[in-house]
Amino acid sequence: MTDTRFLLRNGYVVDTESAPVALPGTDVLIEGDRIIEVGPGLSADGATVIDATDRIVLPGFVDTHRHLWQTALRAGAPDLNLGAYMSVVLGQYGPRFRPQDVHAATLVGALEALDSGITTLIDYSHALHTPEHADAAVDALHAAGLRTVFGYGFPAHGAQNPEDVRRIRNERLYDDQALVTMALAPLGPSFSPIETVSADWNLARDLGLPLTIHVSSGPVAARPITTLREHGLLRADTLYVHGNSLDDDELKLIAESGGTASVTPATEAQMRVGAPLADRLRRAGVTVGLGVDAVSSLPGDMFSLMRAALLASQIADTTPLTVGDVLKMATLDGATALGLADRIGSLRPGKQADVIMLRLDDLNMLTAERDPIAAVVTAAQPHNVDTVLVAGQVVKADGRILYGDTAQAVRALRATAAVVNDH
Ligand SMILES: [Zn+2]
Repeated sequence: MTDTRFLLRNGYVVDTESAPVALPGTDVLIEGDRIIEVGPGLSADGATVIDATDRIVLPGFVDTHRHLWQTALRAGAPDLNLGAYMSVVLGQYGPRFRPQDVHAATLVGALEALDSGITTLIDYSHALHTPEHADAAVDALHAAGLRTVFGYGFPAHGAQNPEDVRRIRNERLYDDQALVTMALAPLGPSFSPIETVSADWNLARDLGLPLTIHVSSGPVAARPITTLREHGLLRADTLYVHGNSLDDDELKLIAESGGTASVTPATEAQMRVGAPLADRLRRAGVTVGLGVDAVSSLPGDMFSLMRAALLASQIADTTPLTVGDVLKMATLDGATALGLADRIGSLRPGKQADVIMLRLDDLNMLTAERDPIAAVVTAAQPHNVDTVLVAGQVVKADGRILYGDTAQAVRALRATAAVVNDH
């Protein structure tokens, strides 16, 4: 049996390696789950041709921090700062979620991401109150059909269950090359005592899992990265989220350890946790990806997030990020932050065919082909996402997502919203 081949013909191809560059009149040839060739005038040779005329073709976006379960709480926390968010969203709403609620919200949130061109995300899933909750989240990620890292999170208000982390790792997410892989998302040194941190880090090491954690100065450790170093817990495969209040020498420690960072400029502004830090992290030598974060307060697409990153930098930084910097953060740097850069993040032969096409003939994109990179970062919107492929599978075509029973997924989310909001 031969693998399915697709030829995306005659697009404005935006590659991101080593820095974003736009190539007009270029084709992308895909075979099976991989990109095999990029260039002008490629032979179709049995491939199904997808016309990319008037389309920007680029690697799918990578979201490095998101709480999919909060998809059931849309527009539910627009005015809450971080402290209020933690007590209301995590402390009051989170415990109301039953396994079916985690499933419904995770599934629709993942489909929403896919629909807007995000082909990879890490789900920092921290409403997992029982093993059934964890199974529901993993089931939903498998059903959605995008590339995901399931970040097994411990609820901020509730019991921790390391045995269930072992079960999910050993019985369900043991294949690190699969479409759905796993990370541990514990509370970390900013929010839990060092004995707990040490046990969590040992658990991750035992199971061969990368770590992702929220970090800030306090309330438990004022200098959390230093605390990790003092206890021999600084590890390369750690993705640090936020950190706006950290000193520059702590950012340097992250760089030296080989760790990576996720900034979420929209929620960081909305929750008022401090000045934007993408530029500080980059100057410290840390690879930085972008994260949507709390969809209870903010939109879930990468376009508004790239705009937030760009505008925040233009306000805060002496030398603001360029549109190329921001697009790279949304793609290749995000892939690096998740430890997946060998697989995704650019349109290089051998990489997984996670590819999206944006319409240049929509009203908001007319004449934007003069600079396809600026077009993606400053002008594009989710409705411009015409085609999405994940691992060589077409999951959105002609502007329509191809997931099976969307109506059922929508009904389930509405039923969940009715339950979790009814108090
Ligand atoms: Zn978060």
